[in-house]
Amino acid sequence: MIPYGKQSISQQDIDAVVEVLQSDFLTQGPQVPAFEKAVADYCGAEHALAVNSATSALHLACLALGLEQGDWLWTTPITFVASANCGLYCGAQVDFVDIDPHTYNLCAQALETKLQQAEQDNRLPKVVVAVHLCGQPCDLQAIHALSQKYGFKIIEDASHAIGGKYQGEPIGNGRYSDITVFSFHPVKIITTAEGGMALTNSAELAQKMDLLRSHGITRNPELMTQKPDGPWYYQQVDLGFNYRMTELQAALGLSQMQRLDEFVARRHQLAQVYNEQLADLPITLPWQHPDSYSGLHLYVIRLQLDKIGKSHRQVFEELRTAGLGVNLHYIPVHTQPYYQNMGFRQGDFPEAEAYYSEAISIPMFHGMSAEQQKEVVNTLTQALGHGF
Ligand SMILES: *Cc1c(COP(=O)(O)O)cnc(C)c1O
Repeated sequence: MIPYGKQSISQQDIDAVVEVLQSDFLTQGPQVPAFEKAVADYCGAEHALAVNSATSALHLACLALGLEQGDWLWTTPITFVASANCGLYCGAQVDFVDIDPHTYNLCAQALETKLQQAEQDNRLPKVVVAVHLCGQPCDLQAIHALSQKYGFKIIEDASHAIGGKYQGEPIGNGRYSDITVFSFHPVKIITTAEGGMALTNSAELAQKMDLLRSHGITRNPELMTQKPDGPWYYQQVDLGFNYRMTELQAALGLSQMQRLDEFVARRHQLAQVYNEQLADLPITLPWQHPDSYSGLHLYVIRLQLDKIGKSHRQVFEELRTAGLGVNLHYIPVHTQPYYQNMGFRQGDFPEAEAYYSEAISIPMFHGMSAEQQKEVVNTLTQALGHGF
């Protein structure tokens, strides 16, 4: 089976992790701050906080922005459930904005229309989570302009997008958002096994997230309500969690950062081959905004079903049977049973549902060989009824 995504681990990565295993600190040592600094410097952000997953980072981001019961978080239905669940963790309510039919990202125009209505209904969102699907940046400038007008905060869920650029600047620099979140799950662009990071230019937000990732406990006398009792003293000043990243993970991440540009460049090469070799098939290829450089976490094709004598499911199953580890990113979140129980219905977000009925993620990863890619092209060509 040719997987849709796979990590690339070098001898240098292995050596870095082994070195930590033989060192004094397996957690709460020097690797985490070094990894944070490397990512912050790469992205041009003031602060970066490594945590044990992007899901945790999204939760901390929402808490730091003050999201709570009575508030609304809006995001796109075409994302992993974590982009929406983080709102529910905080007791807030979640709603969705339909996608742009070209980028498959949250549509800025649909957002504006929904904001106008929400203003009349007095239920404006406190937080909008903008997900850079497949690594393609959202229309951040437009979303940011709306945030100024309607007073919401922006979290970029950049789980797919580290190494990408928006208007020539790195994703993660926070020019148009309050907090940016990365995921380092093995299928993503760089990995720490499990892991995530939250970046911000606000010292206040960084301090809040730092506190909350480690139980709400501080050893900083400036944050305490009284003078320390002694050198052993710490205070719990908020209700936090254990969302810390280990030293092993951080060492792996730090080592992987050295190959980030190479990883993304290789994905662009692979995408270029697909763009050329799949051009004549009855499918819609990924559309790339000319103003941005995608992290290219995923390569999603959409079947033009009216030109193919098979169903979406049939094609998908044929590809799997033929040894392609194809996947579908994502099932619209509002159609999940948990969200249906909250009142969402099939038909609520038609562009997202249309996308779901046609989309397939085909294999693309750093270590993919030319032969493997040829096999994907040939298998697709055969499945879509265009012999060789
Ligand atoms: C992978 C992913 C997450 C969750 O990442 P974890 O690190 O596994 O918690 C969140 N949002 C999106 C868009 C993702 O792809």
